[in-house]
Amino acid sequence: MISKLFEELKNTGELPSPTGVGMRILCLTQSDDWEIDDLALVIQADQALTGRLIKLANSASSNGTETVTSVGEASLRLGAKQLSNIALGFTLIAGHREGACKQFDYDEYWSDSLARGVAASELTKAIGKFEPAQAFTCGLLSRLGELALASVHPSDYSDLLDDLSQGNADGGGCDESVLETERFNINRHEVAVAMLEDWGMPTCFSESVGSYAKNEPVEPTSSEETKELTRILQLAEVIAKFCRSDSRDQVKRWSEMAEVQLRMGLDAAEFEAFCLKVGNEWQDWGGMLTIPTRRASPLNQVRQVAERVAQQQRKLLPNGPDLIHDNDENKLRIIAVDDEPTSLLLLERHLVKAGHEVITARDGREALALALEYNPHIVVSDWMMPDMDGLELCRALRRFRSGQGMYFLLLTAQGEDDRIVEGFEAGIDDYIVKPFKPRILSARVRAGLRVVKLQEQVERDKKAQNEQVAKLAVMARKLRAAALTDPLTNLPNRRYAMQRLEEDWALWNRESKPMSVVMMDIDFFKRVNDEHGHDAGDEVLRQTAEVMRKACRKGDICARIGGEEFLVICTKTPMAGAIQCAERLRAAVEAHIVKFESFDGNVTLSVGVSEAAAGMSSLDELLKAADEATYVAKQNGRNQVQVWGQAGDSTGGLSKSA
Ligand code: GH3
Ligand code: MG
Ligand code: MG
Repeated sequence: MISKLFEELKNTGELPSPTGVGMRILCLTQSDDWEIDDLALVIQADQALTGRLIKLANSASSNGTETVTSVGEASLRLGAKQLSNIALGFTLIAGHREGACKQFDYDEYWSDSLARGVAASELTKAIGKFEPAQAFTCGLLSRLGELALASVHPSDYSDLLDDLSQGNADGGGCDESVLETERFNINRHEVAVAMLEDWGMPTCFSESVGSYAKNEPVEPTSSEETKELTRILQLAEVIAKFCRSDSRDQVKRWSEMAEVQLRMGLDAAEFEAFCLKVGNEWQDWGGMLTIPTRRASPLNQVRQVAERVAQQQRKLLPNGPDLIHDNDENKLRIIAVDDEPTSLLLLERHLVKAGHEVITARDGREALALALEYNPHIVVSDWMMPDMDGLELCRALRRFRSGQGMYFLLLTAQGEDDRIVEGFEAGIDDYIVKPFKPRILSARVRAGLRVVKLQEQVERDKKAQNEQVAKLAVMARKLRAAALTDPLTNLPNRRYAMQRLEEDWALWNRESKPMSVVMMDIDFFKRVNDEHGHDAGDEVLRQTAEVMRKACRKGDICARIGGEEFLVICTKTPMAGAIQCAERLRAAVEAHIVKFESFDGNVTLSVGVSEAAAGMSSLDELLKAADEATYVAKQNGRNQVQVWGQAGDSTGGLSKSA
């Protein structure tokens, strides 16, 4: 089933494939008798590729070995098969940096794929028994299926990504590959597996690319290589995502990374060094291939903030994270920030006593990370703090969308209130002078509560409205498509055909672009219904439509315009081309056997062709001409093509085509 679907994709000729040198390598290595020297020759023809392979050969080897300087040496170091696989990967990148699928982010795709490749290679160097260069190629190609679907179905895949990003995919929150199967009958993983097999890549590549995303234990019957490569791809995915995240997301992803560290069996310092290496290699490669990357943030900082966040979380949620809900109307999530431990403790106590959830932070930086993570209602912050002070924290928060809605209460010392205007300019909502009376603090927080609740209501309304708009947009698109599609045959319907005809007619009028139409009517169709039932009639219509659709040239529109009447619009095509089209369709339908219940046989078509010609004053005349030609085909014995001649009259202008 999958292989048949893959053949269909392949037949479109749109599947991604390595270009130029890559294709030559593919051809060369798929013959039986090739020598490593032949390969080196092909590769040397491409200077950029040569440089990349030499870099990889050097970075894949352990310290102490001599530096590789030529393709010949690189091939000795890497082995011929690996060298060719890597070269294929690189030429694939070169040829597919952009494409027709609007919503597909090609930069993001390659950036991530490259990070996976680099991570996989470094992982095998650190913990694996695998060839680093091979792991690199496999990581680089592990998301190949997405690129393939985007290339073969640019507009449908774009719609799918659109729906996904609106979170409005039917059923909501469904996994991408499920949606892909729904729409294309095949998903990214299945396509990737088939392509890697098709290119003659090692079996462990396709097997591990097929299994790494399933999040299940690897098949116990798989080879050791497959098992190992699958594990590597899983870890590489986590690392790549981490590398590509900003520091805020990195804090969120920390627990996944901690698991990677555990699985790698490294201590904190070793793991830090490992991640740094991956980050640097990724940037190096990105620079060389002009693929965007991101500078790594210091891992120990991420770790510290993440651990602190986790600690606060435990404090807040003694019974686990399922319990986050605001059951108490007046209970607020507050972040309290002060660099002085006793002041902080005091502040926390007052707020907790007033019934709020309180997270504490000891400086602005920590508060920022916690605030972005926890989205508190109110931030109560001291002004003077080392590193990032209260106003800097406020300014930083206001730069984030989520930070704009937080109520910011600034604590000022005596004397600082002279400069409080500065505070309001930075975006604070209110301030309290220290030392404060607990009653005053409570009152100010209650004032904040009112603002926060109002704001939340506005946000909720806005969100509901946006969701509604997004849902409507998806529905409208589906309706538009449905309104222009015939439900029985899935061909465009009469309404669509008329719209297209108007467009082509205008083009013919304005720019003299030729246009022709082919009208077709199934012969004796009533008998099918009468003798075999309406269901058989429907099935004949469906299959006939499919045969016609396949027999049409790309660009021609085949529509169902009546019960058993069809029309092909031959865009920018003069009569001769339309006659060929008509004859092709007639012959294809005649040759097709339909078997359904008691029906076993073929149907035939009477076909009329007409071309837009001088003297025709409207589209209707063009259609009438084709209709008349069809009528003559019926009169003359059916199963034939009749052409409406240039002469312009319906009696003398008709001639039967060959
Ligand atoms: P001719 O060769 O002269 O065209 O003969 P015909 O029987 O094909 O022509 P006629 O116009 O007499 O009959 C067309 C039939 O198509 C009649 C109608 O019941 C049937 N029909 C139209 N739409 C559908 C449909 O959606 N499903 C089925 N099963 N039949 C349909
Ligand atoms: Mg008819
Ligand atoms: Mg008919």
